[in-house]
Parts: sequence; structure tokens; C-alpha cells
Amino acid sequence: MSTTAPVFDVTAVRGDFPILSQTVHGSPLVYLDSGATSQKPTSVLDAEIDFLTRANSAVHRGAHTLAGEATELFEDARATVSRFVGAQPEEFVWTSGATAALNLVAYAIGNATAGRGAPSSARFALAPGDELVVTESEHHANLIPWQELAARTGAVLKHIPVRDDGTLDLEAAVSVITGRTRVVAFSHVSNVLGIVNPVSELVALAREVGALTVLDACQSVPHLPFDFAALGVDLAAFSGHKMLGPYGVGALVGRSDVLDALPPFLTGGSMVTTVTLDEAGFLPAPQKFEAGTQPVSQAIGLAAAARYLDALGMAGVHEHERRLGVRMMEGLRRIDGVRLLGDADAERIGIASFDVDGVHAHDVGQFLDDRGVAVRVGHHCAKPLHARFGLTASVRASTSVFTTDDEVDVFLDAVEGVRPFFGVGATGGRS
Ligand code: PLP
Repeated sequence: MSTTAPVFDVTAVRGDFPILSQTVHGSPLVYLDSGATSQKPTSVLDAEIDFLTRANSAVHRGAHTLAGEATELFEDARATVSRFVGAQPEEFVWTSGATAALNLVAYAIGNATAGRGAPSSARFALAPGDELVVTESEHHANLIPWQELAARTGAVLKHIPVRDDGTLDLEAAVSVITGRTRVVAFSHVSNVLGIVNPVSELVALAREVGALTVLDACQSVPHLPFDFAALGVDLAAFSGHKMLGPYGVGALVGRSDVLDALPPFLTGGSMVTTVTLDEAGFLPAPQKFEAGTQPVSQAIGLAAAARYLDALGMAGVHEHERRLGVRMMEGLRRIDGVRLLGDADAERIGIASFDVDGVHAHDVGQFLDDRGVAVRVGHHCAKPLHARFGLTASVRASTSVFTTDDEVDVFLDAVEGVRPFFGVGATGGRS
């Protein structure tokens, strides 16, 4: 019996993504923008089409056959995706994405502060001077909702700084998190740096002071084995479209005691027990957070994406992308005038962001696109992190299950050609 680990068969994987076989400006497409949104395999597209052509109907309402089938498929999807992230179905709330999930939490805490919710909601109520803690590397989706909550409640927003090498300054975190800290919200993996943050250390610091932990898992769920229960956070948010799934769907995952006590954010149909003209009673979690018509076909598509990733094996996915990330980093380090953001030899996924001395990120992006290479340019919705590195924009290459070593090499060759093309010399000046 062979003892070697199964080889990740990227050629077979690519066959499942027809979009990848096209050319761009005459060159084969090299899609290195999965950090923004991933491509979707045919099984995901087929799952949505199959549902819409065979069973489409409103869920949790109506007594007819199709409504029953649709409800069953929708709840099966909840079971599949919650299992994929190591949570129970009752711990799993459908949302339109990570942004919606993070706003849900911040607004629910605001509602608790306003005295709404069951008596148990009072544990989330903020008093002026209470502290909310984020990190300097957050995506705006896990920063601005907390800024807004602080402004509404008189809470104070603080941050854990990022070191020059891109890692979080845990020594500083020890003093940033205090007895007044009520929430610690942080990303599992930075969408700019690709560095995996020390979840257990941050959870331990937060627990010591009784603070709620909120994990932005947008860039981890698609790329590494994710076990909500084992991570020990109270709440986690992620998006479907970054994990080979459809747009417009994602989830908030939360410990049952937390979801049970949090007041709802959006209110309306499908989340109530009794309603009079004056007041309403709410269903238990997760339904109390799922007001209105849900993204049903997208949820079913997301379950197909979870099954697809499960079949590949998340340990293999992680190793494949980690290796590609290292290949990108090592290649970029060798190119004159290229500065990597977050150069730490830390645990990471396949993301590399960089600055090319003397050439604007948008010009780099255009140059790469002319050669078929799709990357993200700009601040990647992480302006404070770019300011930390003295930049307003960078170039980001990000991998997925379908990315190959050859594609990384095409990308690196193209980056090597940027400064000569723009006539930028060793000092960064144009010759
Ligand atoms: N958090 C991180 C780390 C992200 O990378 C993103 C998307 O880029 C988001 C949150 C927001 O995700 P969405 O726009 O899908 O809600």
C-alpha cells in the first residue's frame, strides 16, 4: 500500500471550470483574482439550474408539493454548508454575504444596547466608554460596522497594530484588550497579506475579559480546513462567491447561546411567532435572523460548492494553495523594485500583494491584463492597512483550487517585465 499523500490533481480540477479555457488579449487567461471572487465549477452552476428548473418555490411557506421540496432542499443546503464549516444547522444563519453577516452582528448589538430583545440580550448592551477592538488589517466590512456601532453607542473603537512584516502585534494586543473590551473582531486571514492570524491567542485574550469574538472568515473558509467549533470564536462570517459558490449568499455562524440571546437585526416576514399591530414575537435562531425571502437557489449552489471542496479535501486544497503562495512570494522577492506587503514567513494562503517601485498599481494591473493575467489593483477595501505601509494602492494576486504552478510563473515573468516596460530605473525614476 502506498504511503504517499494523494496528489492534488489540478488538471482534473480545471476541467470543471469552463471559464478558464478562454484567452484574454490573445493570451490564455491566468485568473489570479479569486480573493475578490472565485470562479464556479459546473456542479455549482448545475445545482442552481436544476433547482430553478425542477423545484423552484417559496420556502417555509405554502402547503403545496413544490414548496415542500424547495424547503427540504434549502434546509439540506444549510445542513451541508454548516457541516462543511464545523457548525450545527441551528448555529447557521443565511445572509447575502460576509458584509451582511458582520453588519447583522453590529446592528444586533446596537439593538441590545437600545434595550431591544429578550432579557438575555442585555449581556450585549454597550455603555459609553466600552471598547470594541479590531485589527489594523481588517477589510472595511469588518471595520466600518464597528465604527458605526461605536458612533451610535458611545463605545470606543481600538485596534491591534500590524508589525512591519504583516503579522499582528500580539504584545500590543495584550494592552489593547482591556477589562472594558466587549467585542474583539478580526479576520482569520488578511485579504491583502494572506497571513493566517493567531485565532487561539486572540480568543484567549478576549475570553479573559469576557469579550465576544467575531471572526471574518471570508478568506479562510475557501482555502483551509475550517472548524468553527474548534476555533472557539463566538461568531464567524463568510461569503459564498469566494468559495466557488454563487453571488448573493453567505452566512453568519454563531454559538447557540450567543445567537439565542442576540436580538434580531432585520425584521419582517418569516421570522415571527405572533404579530399584532403593536408588537411581534420572534422565532428562535437561526430563523429570527432570516427575515424576508432568502437566497434559496444560491444557498443550494453554495451547498454544491461545499460538496465540491469536500470531495477535493480541504487539507489538500490548503497545501496546494499554500505552496503556490510561497512560489509567488519567493518569485516576487527576486524581482528588482518589487516590495511584498507582509513579508513574514508566517502560515499563509495563496495571496501576495505588492508594490512596484515607480509604477502605479493600476498601470501594473493593465500591463498584466494585456498578457492575460487577471489581478486585483487598488486598496482591496483595506485602506488603513495600506496607509500602515505608506501606500494608497497595491497589486494583489490570489490563487484558488484551479491555479497552477505554470500560471504563477507566467505571472512572475510578466511582473518582471513591468519596470523595464515603463522605463523605470533602479532608483524608481523613469529613464
Ligand atoms: N472580509 C474579507 C476579508 C474579504 O476579503 C471580503 C471581500 O473581499 C469581505 C469581508 C466582504 O465580503 P462580501 O463583499 O462578499 O460581503
